[in-house]
Amino acid sequence: MIILSLLISGKLFLQADKYYTARINMVKTQIIDRGISDAETIKSFRTVPRHLFVPEEYVEEAYGDFPLPIGYGQTISQPYVVAYMTEVVKPKGKKKALEIGTGSGYQAAILSGIVDTVYSIEIVSELAKESSERFRMLGYNNIIVRAGDGYNGWIEHAPFDIIVVTAAAEKIPKPLIDQLSENGRMVIPVGSQSGFQELKLVVKKDGKIQITTLLPVRFVPFKRL
Ligand code: SAH
Repeated sequence: MIILSLLISGKLFLQADKYYTARINMVKTQIIDRGISDAETIKSFRTVPRHLFVPEEYVEEAYGDFPLPIGYGQTISQPYVVAYMTEVVKPKGKKKALEIGTGSGYQAAILSGIVDTVYSIEIVSELAKESSERFRMLGYNNIIVRAGDGYNGWIEHAPFDIIVVTAAAEKIPKPLIDQLSENGRMVIPVGSQSGFQELKLVVKKDGKIQITTLLPVRFVPFKRL
């Protein structure tokens, strides 16, 4: 009887996540094979159901090697880019993160298994509402979303050990640099709104800022209210 019920619940579990194989395959071909090696980042990617973060019409494409539209002219980033940004800022031990540009909530969900608390700000209030609801339904209880312009960061919760900006700014916002903790790491796409952008890593050491250029990228523009 116990074995039978285990079999039944196992089958239901597999049915509930029929995208499991697609997800494991995505992690292997798009993430591990391209050089992402951090165990916690990989574990998060194996766990977070990406197909539940995209609009219904894109569910079958959720594990593809590309960004997808999420409405309001915005996108959910390509899986590899999310993995790269996560690995590059990943702190040792559980820490506090700030994300600018909640969008679908996928990047925040990936971070939620790695840090203590994720604070995330989204300028499109409808997306802020949708992602909060998604976090509540999926049980991501350590992500706190606020609608608004993330340019000024979130002073009440600063400083942050990691800051992830998912929209391209022409310059790195000074308030975000100020809200980075000592040894904190920020990743941010910087460049023109329509053209060339580079992903930058900002590290604070002894109160000083070191900036490294990582890779060319293509992100939606960092907007201002
Ligand atoms: N991290 C998201 C990516 C969404 S795209 C995900 O995983 O799906 C970037 C998001 O940044 C968009 O939703 C856009 O509305 C938002 N954004 C742009 N400028 C912003 C600003 N100044 N403050 C907060 N969010 C901003």
